[in-house]
Amino acid sequence: MPPKDSKFYDLLGVDHSLQGVEFEAKLKTAYRKSALKFHPDKNKEAGAAEKFKEVTKAYEVLKEERTRQIYDQYGEEGLEQQGGMPGGGMAAEDLFAQFFGGGGAFGGMFGGGARDTGPKKARTIHHVHKVSLEDIYKGKVSKLALQKSILCPTCDGRGGKEGAVKKCTSCDGAGVKTMLRQMGPMIQRFQTVCPECQGEGETIRERDRCKRCHGKKTVVERKVLHVHVDRGVKSGHKIEFRGEGDQMPGVLPGDVQFEIEQKPHPRFQRKDDDLFYHAEIDLLTAIGGGQIFVEHLDDRWLTVNIYPGEPIKPGSIKVIKGQGMPSHRHHDFGNLYIQFDVKFPDKIPIENLHLLEQVLPPRMQQNVPASDAMNEDYDLEDVDPRQQTRAQGAAYGEDDDDDVPPGAERVQCASQ
Ligand SMILES: [Zn+2]
Ligand SMILES: [Zn+2]
Repeated sequence: MPPKDSKFYDLLGVDHSLQGVEFEAKLKTAYRKSALKFHPDKNKEAGAAEKFKEVTKAYEVLKEERTRQIYDQYGEEGLEQQGGMPGGGMAAEDLFAQFFGGGGAFGGMFGGGARDTGPKKARTIHHVHKVSLEDIYKGKVSKLALQKSILCPTCDGRGGKEGAVKKCTSCDGAGVKTMLRQMGPMIQRFQTVCPECQGEGETIRERDRCKRCHGKKTVVERKVLHVHVDRGVKSGHKIEFRGEGDQMPGVLPGDVQFEIEQKPHPRFQRKDDDLFYHAEIDLLTAIGGGQIFVEHLDDRWLTVNIYPGEPIKPGSIKVIKGQGMPSHRHHDFGNLYIQFDVKFPDKIPIENLHLLEQVLPPRMQQNVPASDAMNEDYDLEDVDPRQQTRAQGAAYGEDDDDDVPPGAERVQCASQ
């Protein structure tokens, strides 16, 4: 079956219908060529570094049976969704170093540096778990499925019949071979992946290969993990499942790590344990009192009283103590801050203005020179709509800038 998306195969120029050791060998060769061609130490052309990252990513995905299967079935998107991106996207340089052995990039490659002995543990599967603010407020258990490699149960991770696995004679089981190369006047010693065993260090005769894993020693398994999202947990918090990651022959099973990422919320913004809420109230409520209703994160509605005689100023911030987020692993709560946007009426009937004059403070006295000679009269006009858009755009921007109350911005704008 052709893969959903052939981009990664095309990048490396590898035929997607190939399987097993033949595929691995072709893939390694292809990556090696591309990586050397585009490595930023060597290729200073624009776009080379980007290309280097791309081919490395493609190689990283295709070389693992687990991630290759996900990619074939669901494309690049599937990898991100299923947390299948190996190592959470290992830095291209790191992989390059691992691939060619030793101290990274070209030093390791041509300097004949020792081959990386490799981690004693399979790599960690990293997955970002996006959680709503409601779920963080209440706490929940998420059931997350992941695809991981396990040692083949049919052959116990040997890859074939007992006794059928032989040490590779070409590299004496090392998986790499040291080669000599004439480079100008010098003879360079360098290491290469053993072409006989493709770096495995051992060989299995075709007919002795395990039928289930085709000699690969591992198969892909779907596993469901229960991830506890604690109340009040913050973005960046990590939850580890030790030994629940990939299994590989000869190394410890890897870990699975979930990183909590809080999704943006339509009503609340969160800062540590505090919540910020934007309330729009009308002018009458602001001056004469009333109530506003705030839908909280656990289906409660808070009734917030605004008392007559204590006007709410545009942009002012008030607090309701203890109605913020539960603090993680403590038993208290942050605060809920409410910032008020006061909606002024577009028009008011002028015949009753004298009623306002009875309740509002008198008009401010302004210091203007007494002489009539220097004074001229002007009228205000509405601003041209296009200009207005520009002015408002500058003043309000994204509306999520908490540091400056909108009222203050408006005043600045008007005085420009
Ligand atoms: Zn097997
Ligand atoms: Zn070999």
